[in-house]
This record gives sequence, structure tokens and C-alpha cells, in this order.
Amino acid sequence: GTDRCTAALLLDIDALSLTKGRGSRRYDYVNDRPYVASSFMSVALAKVYGSALGGKSGGHAELAASALPLEAALAVVPSSGGGELVERLFAPLGWDVDVTEHPADEQFPAWGTAKYVTVRLKGHARLQSLLEHLYVLLPVLDNDKHYWIGRDELDKLLRRGGDWLSAHPEKELIVNRYLRYQKRLATEALDHLVGEDIAEQAAVDDLEPTDVPEERVRLADARIGTVVSVLKSVGSARVLDVGCGAASLVKVLLADPSFTAVGGMDVSAGALEAAGRRLHLDRMPPRQRERLSLFQGSLTYRDDRLRGWDALTCVEVIEHLDLPRLEAFARVVFGHAKAPTVVMTTPNREYNVRFEFLEPGMLRHRDHRFEWTRAEFAAWADLVAERYGYSVRYLPVGPEDREVGPPTQMAVFTSAAQS
Ligand code: SAH
Repeated sequence: GTDRCTAALLLDIDALSLTKGRGSRRYDYVNDRPYVASSFMSVALAKVYGSALGGKSGGHAELAASALPLEAALAVVPSSGGGELVERLFAPLGWDVDVTEHPADEQFPAWGTAKYVTVRLKGHARLQSLLEHLYVLLPVLDNDKHYWIGRDELDKLLRRGGDWLSAHPEKELIVNRYLRYQKRLATEALDHLVGEDIAEQAAVDDLEPTDVPEERVRLADARIGTVVSVLKSVGSARVLDVGCGAASLVKVLLADPSFTAVGGMDVSAGALEAAGRRLHLDRMPPRQRERLSLFQGSLTYRDDRLRGWDALTCVEVIEHLDLPRLEAFARVVFGHAKAPTVVMTTPNREYNVRFEFLEPGMLRHRDHRFEWTRAEFAAWADLVAERYGYSVRYLPVGPEDREVGPPTQMAVFTSAAQS
């Protein structure tokens, strides 16, 4: 017969005791932890279903080893990337994903959707796989409240994710988030999983001073990782990086065949020379060379070479433009180039207080004309999106601080004509 059973795991979390922790482990008095499935749920899964998570069963070894029709229902999951991120994380693992988004407040539709979603996963898998996927991915979804860092966390991730994580299209996002962008640990994890040398990507931008603090190298990596994840998630094939500098992003894009055409544009001839050196233009195989175009130009003048791309990326560039020129920049990028997707990053000024190498009030780079708070960036980006017919969403890059947010802020614009 078809015997089905339901196991329910209910956590009773004492919200008040959470406020007594120290440093980043302390939560606000009013917090969502008692009501959501978060990293606490992962810990509980490991405690309560430890043997199943380990693939063991006392009397039914053959059942533990076989794929079963399984269904998992999670009433409330905090997802920093909404329903879309849930889909991106679970669907590649073979789950039929059903996500229900909820309004932030039914009384105020203008507030948009909440970051809390209801999730139902259906599929045919070993119970161990389902538990492993939940164990690793729940904390990844709940990016901003996740605090695990350390050697034992890397071990846990490799133990739970060893055989499925390496094939996951979002593995970099998962590893980076799981380890909170701890570059040393993340590099080690990726090396284990794919034997890939991502240290190369960490190479300090040629344009930066040589004594760049470690933190900034890590952040440059996190930016590239997040940009690439976003591009892949929307399926952009032809990507132009504007203000490409020494081509650190262009290099990563070129190495990935799913990007069929890769462009780099910068106003600075010196930057383009450095880009050529980094990409070894002189001895690049012709097939690769055909996919690449590098050219000089300015983002504040209309230019037809900016048209026809699936996505424009603009990483740490706007803060180099004089404020009064931003209008011209927006006209060129959104009004003229009109790529279906535009990904933009800029420093989050609020985070500067966390950088030890910065004196109070200082900007991060001598050429920065301004640095924006999250509210300032969002105000500008919302306006631009509205004016040019795009929708925009915001993503954090780097370890998010509970007070001042992430070090880098990202806006992903999607043309309304597209969606
Ligand atoms: N995107 C690169 C470089 C960021 S530095 C990275 O993330 O590493 C900012 C870059 O923007 C510089 O290379 C600078 O030359 C370029 N830039 C500044 N003003 C520009 C303009 N008006 N048009 C195009 N590029 C510009």
C-alpha cells in the first residue's frame, strides 16, 4: 500500500535569551527567530534527525538508501532574495519548488512583498538528501541573520554538501554566503569541491594601491561572485562591463563559456592597457578573442557600442562620476544602451565605520566623488528605474552588518519590457 507519514519539527525559541548574546550573536529585542525556519532549524535538524542526516537507519537501511517520494513544507522562511532565490537554490537539486510570497502588510500594498516566504518542496530523493539540502540552504537563504564562521563550519558544509554542492550552479553563492564571505575559508571550500583556483580572481586590481588591505581583496572577490551569480540567474549571455578597469570581472566572464560575448569599456587608456595585460591579449586563442571586445569610451556620452547587450555591469563606477553627471550617465545607460539587465554596485557609506583602515569621515578611494548610504542609493536608483521603465531590486555584497548593512550595495535593474 502507499504508506505516508508526516513528521513535524516545531522549534520553541526563547527570543529573549537571544538578546543576551554578545557582538554579532546578539539579536534585537524584537526579532523574527521564533517564527521562522533559519539556521536554528538547521541545528535542530542535525540534532533531531541526526542519523537520517547521516544516511543511516536502524532497521531500514535499504529505505535510507533509496529515493522516496518526499515533500517538505516550511511555513515561514526568511529569504533575502525572495521566492526567486529559493527557486535558484532548490530547483537545480531536482526539487519541484512551490513558493508563496506574502505582502509585507496587507493594509499597505505599496510596501511590497515581505522577505518571508512559504515553501513546499516535492521530489523523489533519499531522505538524507532532503535533510542535507535543508541543512545547508536554510542558513544561506537567511543571509542577514546568519553568523556561523569558522573551521568547523567549513567542515560541516563539506560534509553535508560534498557530493551535490560541487554540481550546483549557485555553488559560489552558497559557499560564499554560508561562510559569510570569509575568503580564506571559501577559497579552501571551492578548491575541495572543484579543484578550481579562485585565488587568481582575488588578484588585486592593478589600479589599486599595492598595500590594499585583505578585507578589500575579499570584497572585490565577493562583488565579482555576486555579479556573476546574478547574470547567470537571469541567463544573460552577452555582457558588457562598463568602467571595467583592469578587467578583473571581464576575465572571469571570459572563462565561462555561457557568456558568449564579453565586453569591457573604460574611459581610461591606462586601465585598458592594464586590462590587456591581465587578459594576455597578445597570446589569447582566436576563439576566445572573438568573444571579447575591449574599447575606450565614456559613460556620459551616447555610444552605439553600448547597445545590443543582454546585460551591462557597472561595478564600483558611479562613485567616480561627478554628481551632476549622473543624469547624463543614466540617460546613456538606461535611455540609450537599454540592456534588459543592468547590474550596478557602489560602496555603502554606512559601512565605512567598520573599516579599520579608514579615518572617520574618509571615503574609500581618493577618486571617489561621493559614497552613498543605502537610502541614498535606493532613492536614486528607484527614480532612475521609474523614469526609464525598469524595475529594481537590491542585494547585499559582503558580510552584512546588523547596524550598517553590507560593505557593498548592489542594484539589479530589469527592463519592464523584459518581464
Ligand atoms: N569595475 C572595475 C573598476 C572600478 S574603478 C572594478 O570593479 O575593479 C572605476 C573605473 O571607472 C575606472 O577604471 C575608471 O577609469 C572608470 N571610469 C570613470 N569614469 C568613467 C566614465 N565616465 N566612463 C567610463 N569609465 C569611467
